[in-house]
Amino acid sequence: MLRRLALTLRKWAGWALDALYPRDCLFCGRPSGDGYVCLDCLGRLPLRRNPSCLICGAESAMPEGPDFVCSDCLRHRPAFERAFVAARYEGDVRRLVHDFKYHGGIWLTRDLARLLVALYLDRLAPLRPRIDAVVPIPMLRRKRGARGYNQAELLARELARQLHLPCRAGLLRRVATGVPSQTRLGRAERLRNAEAAFRPAHPRHLRGKTLLLVDDVLTTGATCDACARLLRRAGAKRVYVLALARPLRV
Ligand SMILES: [Zn+2]
Ligand SMILES: [Zn+2]
Repeated sequence: MLRRLALTLRKWAGWALDALYPRDCLFCGRPSGDGYVCLDCLGRLPLRRNPSCLICGAESAMPEGPDFVCSDCLRHRPAFERAFVAARYEGDVRRLVHDFKYHGGIWLTRDLARLLVALYLDRLAPLRPRIDAVVPIPMLRRKRGARGYNQAELLARELARQLHLPCRAGLLRRVATGVPSQTRLGRAERLRNAEAAFRPAHPRHLRGKTLLLVDDVLTTGATCDACARLLRRAGAKRVYVLALARPLRV
């Protein structure tokens, strides 16, 4: 209760500060109006230097052609159709996402969701995906309780609101497995561990549906792959993925 009150106060404080101090764009440093990212930079999404894999959105460490597909996707096609990522997870983006995730920075929701909306309109909308529902990557109940919110859910709700799409956080549940997530594991094992951590719910609402999974940071992409796999096994037709940021793979 107290935690919720603190978060609400923080949100109001954020809005009040927004009204008083105009901000500079995080990416180019020029005045950005009421957001953290200016319209010019939003128009230049994804905010990365190298081309990204057409399938999983991983940014290549080297210059590649525009139709580049990474070696992981060539070997094992993920269960989602396509994943799109707004920015490289470093510098200001990393700090911003950190504040949003770990320091109660929920007033950042609208701006960060704006990045996702721009990405959606630019990359996904031209594919005419006919999204039936936006689904956030869920968090363990215990963890959500301690933090007071699930940042992926905040993003998904705001994105869905701005795009006039329904948001269905209940279609996927997270369960405790006791297995820590380890990026050094092999792909198959990583995927197996990730799959064990989620359960699709309400198969009735999944059958034949096209879903848009939303997460804040993709690291290996195994979580989204596992969720897409489970949702499709439970009847979903197609799954797309939108994420704020992903580290450069080396
Ligand atoms: Zn800018
Ligand atoms: Zn890929």
